[in-house]
Amino acid sequence: MLQGARHTHMAALHVAAEQSGIEIEIHELRKAVDLVNAQPHAIVFPGGESTTMRLTGNDPASSLLPALFDWIREDSARPVLGTCAGAILLCDPQDGGDRLVAAEIDRNAYGRQADSFQSALDAKILDRQFPGVFIRAPRFTSVGDSVEVVVTHDSEVVGVKHGNRLALTFHPELSEDSGFHEWLLQTAKEVTA
Ligand code: GLN
Repeated sequence: MLQGARHTHMAALHVAAEQSGIEIEIHELRKAVDLVNAQPHAIVFPGGESTTMRLTGNDPASSLLPALFDWIREDSARPVLGTCAGAILLCDPQDGGDRLVAAEIDRNAYGRQADSFQSALDAKILDRQFPGVFIRAPRFTSVGDSVEVVVTHDSEVVGVKHGNRLALTFHPELSEDSGFHEWLLQTAKEVTA
């Protein structure tokens, strides 16, 4: 809940819960202590502005960002969905540690706000096309060996999976299709079973 498209993700998670029949409880994380109290089974890093998220999340009043990065690194099976700015944080945590998703990413790589666009994507992970919404989106500039390409736009990589961590350069929470949120819930269910 540091900044960005939080409420739309919450709505998408509710739709995904209904679609998949998986019961959920959503916890709003603002501070490191919220993570301790929530004991989550999965995490969403929304889109927004990664610079603002870093400033607020690293501020001692919150310290949520280092706590989240620790939580993710503690167990590579923990399911994480990072979208747009959230994908930037996962690929480039800037905390002196390893990338959480082994891909390099370039911010605002399509240009300015006016260069935002929508396009059909090939979502291999969902086995269908997915309506992609790109808002001042980043671009993957290189993808590590341990990373699987799971979504493409024409031939360009726009979604990668590293273990149970999914980084997408677009905004799945703004589409009718709740497939990526269902993936998160299904993965959390399998991991915690
Ligand atoms: N431009 C934003 C950033 O660099 C990302 C845009 C988004 O999340 N829609 O953080």
